[in-house]
Amino acid sequence: MSEKIKQHHLVSRPPIIVITGHIDHGKSTLLDYIRKTNVVDTETGGITQHLSAYEVSIPTPDKSGSGPRPQASGKITFLDTPGHEAFSGMRERGVGAADIAILIVSAEDGVKAQTIEALKTIKEAGVPFIVAINKTDKPSANVEKTKNELAEHEVYLEGYGGDVPYVPISAKTGSGVSELLDMILLVSELKELKTDPAKDGAGIIIESRLDQKRGISATLIVKDGTVKKGDFMVIDGVVSPIRIVETFLGKPIDMAHAGMPFGMAGFSKAPQVGSLFRTYKNKKEAEVSAGSFKNIAPSALRPKILGEEEVKLTKVIPLTLKADTLGTLEALEKEVVKIKTENVVFKIIKKGVGAIGETEIKLALAAKEDSIVIGFNVKCEPKAKDLAEREGVTIALFDIIYKMTEWLENEAKKRKPKVLVEETTGKAKILRCFSREKDRQVVGGRVLEGLIATGETVKILRRDFEIGKGDIIELQTQKIKTRDVGEGKEFGLLVASKVDVAEGDIIEAFRVVEK
Ligand code: GDP
Repeated sequence: MSEKIKQHHLVSRPPIIVITGHIDHGKSTLLDYIRKTNVVDTETGGITQHLSAYEVSIPTPDKSGSGPRPQASGKITFLDTPGHEAFSGMRERGVGAADIAILIVSAEDGVKAQTIEALKTIKEAGVPFIVAINKTDKPSANVEKTKNELAEHEVYLEGYGGDVPYVPISAKTGSGVSELLDMILLVSELKELKTDPAKDGAGIIIESRLDQKRGISATLIVKDGTVKKGDFMVIDGVVSPIRIVETFLGKPIDMAHAGMPFGMAGFSKAPQVGSLFRTYKNKKEAEVSAGSFKNIAPSALRPKILGEEEVKLTKVIPLTLKADTLGTLEALEKEVVKIKTENVVFKIIKKGVGAIGETEIKLALAAKEDSIVIGFNVKCEPKAKDLAEREGVTIALFDIIYKMTEWLENEAKKRKPKVLVEETTGKAKILRCFSREKDRQVVGGRVLEGLIATGETVKILRRDFEIGKGDIIELQTQKIKTRDVGEGKEFGLLVASKVDVAEGDIIEAFRVVEK
């Protein structure tokens, strides 16, 4: 019966689509066309997409005719992932976030290297795909030849010995695009994308960025459940309160439903693109799930270091960008945002048109000693150069974008931060379990090494594997409340944990230090 009740709550959600294919085959043009024809920003009258994903509403086709296509939902979400060769990793993740892929192939050029690469990614990800044969408006377009080339690469289209749906389109004139959208809805209907809106949210990070006003923000896609303002989000072991939720057009909303892209600000640590998130109504629950670390004040009572484990820490490098035109500046900014080096992010603190002057250097100095000032197609004033040399601010001049990107990636690698290291400060064995009420449990044990203290977060290990974390609420020795217990002593313990502590488990106290 519970199955029935569960079923009852399931509703269809919009499909998440990624467009992939060879460079210049028309990904951006198609994304632009769909955006322009299907996104209506009623408030501003213009479309200002804030995120690298957008949602469109497709008018329901007339179902009175004999063969109209079934309609899963009138909404479709498109991921606007970069199609650049250098970002194939990102493209792969794009497919991971997506439910359906569109493989775009130009009818002029046919199957190319990146078409094959995209196909491989699609197959590895196991997502259904639709072929869009593009540029059919061009006189030199050859749809038949393209189909044959696809067949040579084992893509057998419907009507050509296979079942891969395809639609001939022109992303430029828009011909065939509405058929493509219908096809997406049809495939998504077959895929039965369902969700329970009452469930907590879960999904994937598709973009993360830093800006001066909002701090760290990200674009996320909900794949299941509902993300609600006021709840708590866990990404890569970090808990963030959900305070600001926005649509892809930047409008504040209270909740984001499954299938929706949304923007969120206020992260304490830049989430990694491709990471999964989950939301929780309750902060404690989120913290337990994150296994969040409490920074334990170093204490003289804790000289013993029993073991070490690394924890990641992100370093922010302030960056100033000066360029010859606003357009270039925008392009540079996009490149900077795309740079993903482990544990390092660039934060653009100032950008502008014109030569590098003393102001930029002073600002860079105020931000941090390891600031970088970049000039693109512009000069650096001699006074600024002198000041930078005196104060140790790095200036770099470029006239080719990818050179700047390469240089910055290299700088990021060089400046990778020290890592946070977990040091075990105490170890105890659980000898007896007394009672459990909700997430609290009373147990007894003996300290094997180091020290165990009230207020600490501990790891719970079973046969050497961490099964969860817990918080020490209260400690007792000989039935008397105590702050800490040392090596060899037996104790009673009230621990708060999601996991059930069992006899024989080991609890481990630790602190986090920078190394
Ligand atoms: P991307 O690299 O896959 O994103 O390709 P773009 O969307 O940037 O397209 C590359 C070039 O092909 C641009 O100059 C587009 O204007 C052009 N293009 C894209 N689709 C079509 C189409 O359907 N017809 C024609 N004639 N040109 C197109």
